[in-house]
Amino acid sequence: MNSKVYIETFGCQMNVADTERAVTGLRKAGYEMTSASDEADVVLMNTCSVRERAERKVFRRVSELRKSPRHPVIGVMGCVAQLEGPSIFQRAAAVDLVIGTQATDRIPALLSRIRAGEKSVIDLGERQPGEIWDVSPAERRSPYVAFVPIIEGCNKFCSFCIVPYSRGREKSRSAVEIVAEVKRLRSLGYKEVQLIGQNVNSYRPKSDQGLESYAGATPFSRLLRAVAETGIERIKFTTSFPRDFHPDIVSALEECPNLCNWVHLPVQSGSDRILKSMRRGHTAADYLRRVETIKSSPRQLALTSDIIVGFPGEDEADFQDTMRLVRECEFDGLYIFKYSKRSGTPAANLDQAVSEAEKKSRFLALEELQISLQERIYENQVGRKLSVLVERQSARSSADMTGHSTCNKVVNFKGDTTQRGSIVDVLISEGKPNSLYGVAISG
Ligand code: SAM
Repeated sequence: MNSKVYIETFGCQMNVADTERAVTGLRKAGYEMTSASDEADVVLMNTCSVRERAERKVFRRVSELRKSPRHPVIGVMGCVAQLEGPSIFQRAAAVDLVIGTQATDRIPALLSRIRAGEKSVIDLGERQPGEIWDVSPAERRSPYVAFVPIIEGCNKFCSFCIVPYSRGREKSRSAVEIVAEVKRLRSLGYKEVQLIGQNVNSYRPKSDQGLESYAGATPFSRLLRAVAETGIERIKFTTSFPRDFHPDIVSALEECPNLCNWVHLPVQSGSDRILKSMRRGHTAADYLRRVETIKSSPRQLALTSDIIVGFPGEDEADFQDTMRLVRECEFDGLYIFKYSKRSGTPAANLDQAVSEAEKKSRFLALEELQISLQERIYENQVGRKLSVLVERQSARSSADMTGHSTCNKVVNFKGDTTQRGSIVDVLISEGKPNSLYGVAISG
């Protein structure tokens, strides 16, 4: 079979990991991959539905692809596929295939049905027993940093969020499998693994297997210790959910130097009234207690977060609560989102929508505050020595290399491509708003 497949990936790391997994299966089934959509016989779009804009982009792309002279088979996979299901065929007649979030491993079989002449093929079914989270190293986005999913889905049902509907309930992968994958990645030369999931710290596998020798207050902190023992150089994890953030995670970070000093803990709002309406299950004070544990660690942990502005009913006083919380937390980085109404979520039925103009002005005010705080935090890094995994040449200057520190900051320094994949110490000489610059003093 000589069919060439092109996959376009939107959204979060889970989608990147799903694409890697899909490509592994497609290659095994004899498909060739291409990086040019106009050369492809099959075009798959791995979609995101967290915000409306991402969803609209998919349908715009389908109408562009429809005009391609090669008339490829067009498939929609991921969150939009799971949520919209068969209605995608009505909305975009050019789509031949709809692949739900748990059907990634069955794509070759679905394509065979299309080759056999079947029209409008759809699979929104669950993962089947025996389907494994297997990703061939050749399909990974980077030869040095690997995403390792440890939990899929979400049980939290925050009122704004579509994820529980698009990705189903939480399902944790066995610790034995995760540890074996990390060991394999280490033997292949990977320097960093990122344990990923919507809420990694809600990790709850069906059995204790693989965790028996590891102490800890929660299965997640036991898993962190188990993964640390593999000896892989760097371990990061994202995203953590505040309600399930046990202080033992910080203890694990203090015990194991290869667990990186960075925590991503989305707060969403600083107002208790809004947090309640968001159904987050925590107050601002609960969140600040977690932050206190993180910030008081001798390990100097970096902290990043997500915030939604303009949630229905958010007034100026609520927004000022958010501004106050951001000032207090001094985040190393912050993703700010304007609330996007997702139909099917409880918040979609709330009155008191915030106007687009107000959302924009709150977004800009919060961004300005974060930039000013972040500038200080980044400048404070000057004179420090950070350990950096060198990933690639900088896009700005061919004389510079770029990578991430253990605290997940982008670090640029004068270097050359022979350093790719190595871990170097960089003495920081300059702090910019979103990156650091320095001189390599080792490696
Ligand atoms: N599960 C994680 C949590 O809630 O703690 C984050 C997952 S979500 C894919 C990533 C971020 O997108 C969220 O933290 C939230 O800030 C943002 N987000 C989710 N739904 C949104 C919506 N309806 N409108 C705007 N932003 C949204």
